[in-house]
This record gives sequence, structure tokens and C-alpha cells, in this order.
Amino acid sequence: MGEFELIDRYFRSAAAQMPPSRGVALGIGDDAAVLEMPAGRQLVAAIDTLVEGRHFPAGCAPRSVGHRALAVNLSDLAAMGAEPAWLLLALTLPSADAGFLDEFSQGLFELAREHRVALVGGDTTAGPLSMSVQVLGNVPAGEAITRGGGRPGDLLYVSGTPGDAAAGLEHLLKAQPVEGADAEVLDPQLQYLLHRFLYPEPRVELGIALRGLASACIDVSDGLAADAGKLAAASGCGATIEVERLPLSEALLERAGRERAVAWALTGGDDYELCFTVPPSRQPAFESRLANVKCRVTCIGRLDEKLSLRVRRAGIEVDCDTRGYDHFTAAG
Ligand code: ADP
Ligand code: MG
Repeated sequence: MGEFELIDRYFRSAAAQMPPSRGVALGIGDDAAVLEMPAGRQLVAAIDTLVEGRHFPAGCAPRSVGHRALAVNLSDLAAMGAEPAWLLLALTLPSADAGFLDEFSQGLFELAREHRVALVGGDTTAGPLSMSVQVLGNVPAGEAITRGGGRPGDLLYVSGTPGDAAAGLEHLLKAQPVEGADAEVLDPQLQYLLHRFLYPEPRVELGIALRGLASACIDVSDGLAADAGKLAAASGCGATIEVERLPLSEALLERAGRERAVAWALTGGDDYELCFTVPPSRQPAFESRLANVKCRVTCIGRLDEKLSLRVRRAGIEVDCDTRGYDHFTAAG
């Protein structure tokens, strides 16, 4: 299978079968895509690269790789309160492996369909497995939610149950492939944690609901404490997280015990939840709008004036590694 057949079979034909989507004047097949921007909206763009052995373990299920490649980008758009519309895929793979491509494209298109984003172009090259997905979306002009709009006193929230994905990843890295074993034989809690790493749900609907209400927002990819710290720093203030308020899933608590569950929730990565702030004056409006959003949110603390991120347990400050992941200082 050559490059053009590969693009046609796995990407162009599936892209053509997508429901008619927003403003694609010209999609895959020409030198570039031509896209119509809705009037009164601003373009919001994000790109993220996934490298095998770095962002996902070697041998990871290709369907998950396809899902995550898009999910991590949709999560960035969600954090801006943007509505995603289009995606581009730059894929580098060692060989034209039909088994990989079938499952990878399936994972990618399942999520694309769910969020009605159209694949409008990309690039395909041979080399070590990695991929960059660019997502383009839009917001009503002036309404993007940034990291920097928080003020001391604003309530700090997180969506979902952070820490699950890190626990799932740890199991994935430790698990020895057992002859004849598959996901069905795992206990349901472990399956749930693995699923949280392999198939994160970008909080697009929540991000859109937060427009006009959240003062600042960031998506949690490097660990809740690190990312909340980035939000606070961008907002020119500090933040306190109360350990007792962390929303921990039952699966995480039972698998890891409370201490490790708390550590994973604060410093594990790959959650793709939203961390955001709401001024107290907007809290009633926020509560009523949230009634229509399926995703759980929990108030875990507040912004304050101290210019650092602090974690408190029973009102007493405790140590927490708030540095998050850094590709160029990480060991290995
Ligand atoms: P060019 O050499 O002009 O960049 P390519 O041969 O790279 O063109 O790509 C041909 C067409 O296929 C372009 O429209 C490009 O956007 C699209 N394309 C290439 N690879 C992918 C991919 N992995 N997914 C989606 N579209 C792709
Ligand atoms: Mg090209």
C-alpha cells in the first residue's frame, strides 16, 4: 500500500462519510483545505503531538492512540470554551500497517463523529510512530476563556475524578501481557481506570457552558496541582487546594488507598479534565447552567493573594510536588 492509497483508504474516505459539517468548502485532496468561518466568531487553534514511548506506551492499543491523539487537542479547545469544528492529522508511522491503521482511524473517527469535527487534511510520512493533530474551532468574538482571568477569592473547580488515568497508566506499564488474557478478565475497577487513561473524554460541553461564567480555565494534562498552579500564576495570584475536597473515584480509592489516590489526583497526569475558577458573584448562575451539563464538577479550593499553589489537609499546609511534567527535564 502506497502513501496515496493509505490516505485514501483510511482517512479521505472516512472523512467523506462524516455528516456534512460546518463550513468545509474544500477538504482532503487538494494542497490545502478551504474553510468558512461563521460570522462574529474567532478562530481557536491548538496542536499537540503524541510520541510512542513518551505519550503512550509502545504497543498501546491503536484505537486508543487514535482516540487520544484527538482527545488531547479537543481538551485544549474545551479549556478555551471553544466549539471544535475541524482537525488536521500529521501521521508518522514505521510502515503502512493495515491492522494499526484500521484501529487507529477507528478510534480517531469515533471521537471526531461524537464531536462533529471534520478531518480536512494532514500529512503522512514514514518514521518512528508519532502523530500531531491540529484542531480548529471557534468562539463568539471576545468570549474565549483564558488562564489569566482569575482573581483572589474566585472558587477553584475541577471536573470529573482526577488521578484515575495515572493509576490506569501505571497498571498498563506494569502489566505483563498474559497469554490469552484480555480486558474482560480484569476486574471492573481496573478496567475503569485503564479506560480513563486510554479513552479520555474531552470536556467540550462543559467548556462551552463555562463561557461568560468561569473567570479562568486550563485543561489538566500535567497533574492537577501543576496545572492549577499555572492557572493561578497566569491570573497573577495563588491558589489553595483542600485535600478533603478532591473528588476521588471509588475505583481509585479501592485500588490505591486514600494516600496514593490523593497523590495521583494531585500530581498524576493525563486526566484531561478542566480546572477553572468562578467568581462568587457568578456562582448562582453557574450552578443553574451546570444543571444541563452531564459532567460532574467539584469545588476544591480558592484563588488567593499569595502567589503560589498550596495544598492543605485539615487546614494545614502539606508538601506537594507542583512542578508537573516537563519533557526536557524529565528523567529518561
Ligand atoms: P502535499 O504534498 O501537497 O502536501 P500530500 O500528498 O501530503 O499533499 O497530501 C495530499 C492530500 O491528502 C492533502 O489534501 C492532505 O491534506 C491530505 N492528507 C495527507 N495525509 C493525510 C492524513 N494523514 N490525514 C488526512 N489527510 C491527509
Ligand atoms: Mg503534504
